[in-house]
Amino acid sequence: MKNYIKHDPWCIIEEDFYAEYNEITESLTSLGNGRMGQRGNFEEKFTGKTLLGNYVAGVFYPDKTRVGWWKNGYPRYFAKVLNACNWIGIDVQIDGEMLDLGLCPVSEYSRVLNMKEGILERTFVASLSDGKQVRVHSQRFCSIVDDEAGAIRYAITPINFDGKITLTPYLDGDISNKDSNYGEKFWDEIRKETAFGEAYLEMRTKDTPFKTELFNVCTGMKIDLTLNGERVDFQSKPVKAEKFVACKLEIEAKAGEEVALYKYAVNLASLNHPTDRLLANAKAYVERIADKGFAKMKAEQIEAWAERWDKNDIVIEGDDAAQQGIRFNIFQLEQTYTGEDDRLNIGPKGFTGEKYGGSTYWDTEAYCLPFYLATADQKVARNLLIYRHKHLQKAIENAANLGFKDGAALYPMVTMTGEECHNEWEITFEEIHRNGAIAYAIHDYIRHTGDEGYLAEYGLEVLIGIARFWAQRVNWSSDKQKYVMLGVTGPNEYENNVNNNFYTNYLAVWCLRFTLEGVSRYKLEVNELLQKINFDFEAETAKWQHIIDNMHYPYDAQRQVYLQQDGFLDKELLTVDDIAEHRPINQKWSWDRILRSCFIKQADVLQGLYFFEEDFDLDTIRRNFDFYEPMTVHESSLSPCVHVILAAMLGYKEKAYEMYLRTSRLDLDDYNNDTEDGLHITSMAGTWMSVIKGFAGMRIRNGVLSFAPYLPDQWQGYSFRITFKGQIIRVSVKPEAIEVENFSNQPVSFVVDGNLVELEANGQKMLEIAVKK
Ligand code: BGC
Repeated sequence: MKNYIKHDPWCIIEEDFYAEYNEITESLTSLGNGRMGQRGNFEEKFTGKTLLGNYVAGVFYPDKTRVGWWKNGYPRYFAKVLNACNWIGIDVQIDGEMLDLGLCPVSEYSRVLNMKEGILERTFVASLSDGKQVRVHSQRFCSIVDDEAGAIRYAITPINFDGKITLTPYLDGDISNKDSNYGEKFWDEIRKETAFGEAYLEMRTKDTPFKTELFNVCTGMKIDLTLNGERVDFQSKPVKAEKFVACKLEIEAKAGEEVALYKYAVNLASLNHPTDRLLANAKAYVERIADKGFAKMKAEQIEAWAERWDKNDIVIEGDDAAQQGIRFNIFQLEQTYTGEDDRLNIGPKGFTGEKYGGSTYWDTEAYCLPFYLATADQKVARNLLIYRHKHLQKAIENAANLGFKDGAALYPMVTMTGEECHNEWEITFEEIHRNGAIAYAIHDYIRHTGDEGYLAEYGLEVLIGIARFWAQRVNWSSDKQKYVMLGVTGPNEYENNVNNNFYTNYLAVWCLRFTLEGVSRYKLEVNELLQKINFDFEAETAKWQHIIDNMHYPYDAQRQVYLQQDGFLDKELLTVDDIAEHRPINQKWSWDRILRSCFIKQADVLQGLYFFEEDFDLDTIRRNFDFYEPMTVHESSLSPCVHVILAAMLGYKEKAYEMYLRTSRLDLDDYNNDTEDGLHITSMAGTWMSVIKGFAGMRIRNGVLSFAPYLPDQWQGYSFRITFKGQIIRVSVKPEAIEVENFSNQPVSFVVDGNLVELEANGQKMLEIAVKK
């Protein structure tokens, strides 16, 4: 764990330059706007530890798969979000000496990500070799108003000398991915152009045998210069090299005079523009934002962020660490996905690193969806669902590759285009529970938005594909006289190839039931669809019903707990306290030892009890929590949040709070020693759930929204807004009371601690309900 980020309610602050932690701070200070994202790299040259990262949403490369031993059914490629053209770079020379924080001492340093405004700012004083000192102040943002653009103001003030400052703002397309399987580069240059104070570079992803879409990205920049705040005429010399364009300019400055360079940049992708218009569109875009100017763009950015915070902020009183943690999580989620485009999704690292290839995982449905459902317009969550609907055909092909038939659909564990692109057999072939999360998301979406029509319009088609898969994936065990599901990997990836993972079996049956009910209810509406997919109503639903009625769930009658899988009790049942010095086990133990141990990577049986809480009584949940939690090592970032929600429900306040800090400050404090690879974006939605579903106890039961809030001892109060069925309410939990407010023009009703609360349009109430502590 590290503790160098200053606690602050709105900002992520690095006060001294921690060069050895630079890659961590780069992750933490990442910027994004849903269309593009950028790690907190320096503008000027830096020869120290750094992971350069510029990403354009949806732009990926199918890298040749690297495996030791090929197995039939393996995916052809491993998709990678592409590290794209570096648009922030500015080389700075002072009287001929290159400014490089890897070489020159710095003082008065700060790097601050202002989450309220969406702006990254750095200030420092650098000492050059001959004793000259300069003060640097840089500001930059990825605009959420002009979402294919970013802007930088880079100001230098000589402190103790008069001299020549040479600035070379550039665009560098010669960029590689650190995770490239064979060390190859993935970009070809298409064209470049420079003009006075402007430059453009268009790159295209290299061709591959996989016939996936190739992407062109045109990056453009325009620059401007001021001296002490006044625009100055400058001469810029164009520089062109392979995959590189720049404008070089020189200016004389006296001690105390501030030279400020403005760099307006755009990243336009062929995903969103006709390829033959990319350069022209980039020119027009750059022109438009440069005309607007930095101050206006910045003001618009601040205003747009204020609007977002209005909808989704969680205010925590009396605990800056917790406040900073939750805002950081919300901020990064907002930067990653805006829901404007149903071709995009949420990679586990968002735009903050390469790990997980930027691809889509079950994380989206199981963890992220609830956040967007409750904090954004309905279309945002709907687009996440449509994304999977669009991939249905590929999911059917994916299942067919594995030997399934008749329209059975297996969604990939990892994907960009709907095609599976992950190649560990135990995950690709066995971690099939992801299929269930996609079905569960449809249910979650409908109950939260009330958009019942979605089922007939899109949902059922997906659900039937998924249900057909489960119906073929189970088999009848004549020994058990039950259906069983063999050779799976549950969410706990520290077990592979197990039989009858409780979570997967339960989820499969739930999917069958949900689909069966849906098809029965909407039979007439979806008649055309049923014919198109050759749905044999009688035979298929009868088979589903038989499975629903006869599934095997491993259970220990003595302990009265569900077993994670058949044979779980044969393991040596230890607790994490027994192996304190061995953690994290994924770094200290062999895989063989991990697989044989009882230790659990992330919620598995408990994931099921969280999803299907209504099916179980509190004692059952408690017994299972008490049994499994002590064996859980939480080596997936997705784990702690589920434990917060269950612990909060069970009244285990200390455990809930311990887990909350772990999830909300996972990256800020680098709990897992891996923040340098990028942030855990998808688990950030889990942090949000910890507060809303955990401490505030939000649930939707029979179409009614309810809360059962309690106040953690460490907090003086907290408040949040929830969008539910198109209406927005605010709940403020204070030590003495709960205040509720209706922000819509319609009356709303919901339940707090079992009491029905009715609020008139724009009404507000103080509830005389004692807040649980
Ligand atoms: C977890 C998976 C998750 C993936 C991406 C893995 O470590 O075990 O459940 O989907 O990370 O976040």
